[in-house]
Amino acid sequence: IEAQAQGRGVLLYREADLQKAAEISAMLRDLRAALADDDLSLVYQPKLHVPSQTILSVEALLRWRHSSKGWISPEVFIGLAEQTGLIADITRWVVRRALRDQTWLVEAGNSVTVYLNLSGRLLADAAFCAWILETVREFDHCALGFEITETAVIDDPEHALANLQVLVDAGLKIAIDDYGSGLSSLAYLKQMPAHELKIDKMFISTLTSSHRDPLLVRSTIDVAHALGMEVTAEGVETAGALALLRVMGCDHIQGYLVAKPLELSALSDLLGDKDFGASFARASSPFKL
Ligand code: C2E
Ligand code: MG
Ligand code: MG
Ligand code: MG
Repeated sequence: IEAQAQGRGVLLYREADLQKAAEISAMLRDLRAALADDDLSLVYQPKLHVPSQTILSVEALLRWRHSSKGWISPEVFIGLAEQTGLIADITRWVVRRALRDQTWLVEAGNSVTVYLNLSGRLLADAAFCAWILETVREFDHCALGFEITETAVIDDPEHALANLQVLVDAGLKIAIDDYGSGLSSLAYLKQMPAHELKIDKMFISTLTSSHRDPLLVRSTIDVAHALGMEVTAEGVETAGALALLRVMGCDHIQGYLVAKPLELSALSDLLGDKDFGASFARASSPFKL
C-alpha cells in the first residue's frame, strides 16, 4: 500500500511539475510576443538628493500588462526571462527605450541620470556590455547608470568585475542594488567600482521601529562613504525615516514618500516642478545620534 501511495505521490508530483512547466512556457511565449508588439513599458522612480532637495537621478522599472492575467510583477517575469536568452532581448529594449525617454526629458529641460537594472547574467557577458557601449554612443545626452546586485558579482566575479570596469571607464554609473539583503560580502564590496550603494528596503521599512536597523544602516552609510560611494536608502515611506536618514548623512532617498514609479509624462511634470523638493526640507529631525 505504501509503495502504491508513494507511486501515486510521484505521479501527482510529476503532473504538477508538467503543469508548472506548461505555464512557464506559455508565459515566456506571451512575454516574447509582448516584447515584439511593444507591449512592455517603463516607469521611472525618482531619487531625492537629500542635501539639495532635488532629483538628480531616476530608476527605470519595467512593467508588463498581460492581456488576460493583468499586471505581472517584474520579479516574476524577469526571473523567467533570466532562465532563457530572452533577458538579453528585453534589456536591449529597456536600454533603447530609456535612452529615447532621456532624450525627450533633456529636450524638455529636465536632465537626470537614468539608472537601469542589469541582470547578473548580462553583466558577466562581455559581448552584451560591448553592445551597451555601442548603443549609448549613439545618444548625445546619455547619462546612464546600472543597478546591479552583489550576487551578480559573486556568481562570476572574474567576468563581472572586468565588465563593471569597462562600463565605468565609458562614463556609466554603477549602483549596488538591494545591499544587505544578500551576502553583503565586504571582500566583494571593496573590489567593486561602484558610485552608489542602495540599502535594501528591508532595513528601511523598520528603521524607526527597530533597535538594530538604525545601527546597521548608519554603519553601512559610513562604510560606503569611506569607500567613496554615495548612499541611497530604498523604500522610504515615512517622514520619520527621512529625518533619521538625513541625520545619518544618507545622500539620496527613494520610496513612496518621494514618489511611486511614474510614467514618463508624470516624471517630466515632477522634474519641472521647482517647488517639489522644498516639501521635504521641513521634516526637521527629532533624532539625536
Ligand atoms: P529593485 O530594483 O530593487 O526595485 C525596487 C522595487 O521596490 C520596485 O518594485 C519598486 O516599485 C519598489 N518600491 C519602490 N519604493 C517602494 C516603497 O516605498 N515601498 C515599497 N514597499 N516598495 C517600493 P518593482 O517595480 O516591482 O520591481 C521589482 C524588481 O524587479 C526590481 O527590484 C528589479 O530587481 C526587477 N526589475 C524591474 N525592472 C527591471 C528591468 O528592467 N531589468 C531587470 N533586470 N530587472 C528589473
Ligand atoms: Mg533597482
Ligand atoms: Mg532595489
Ligand atoms: Mg529588489
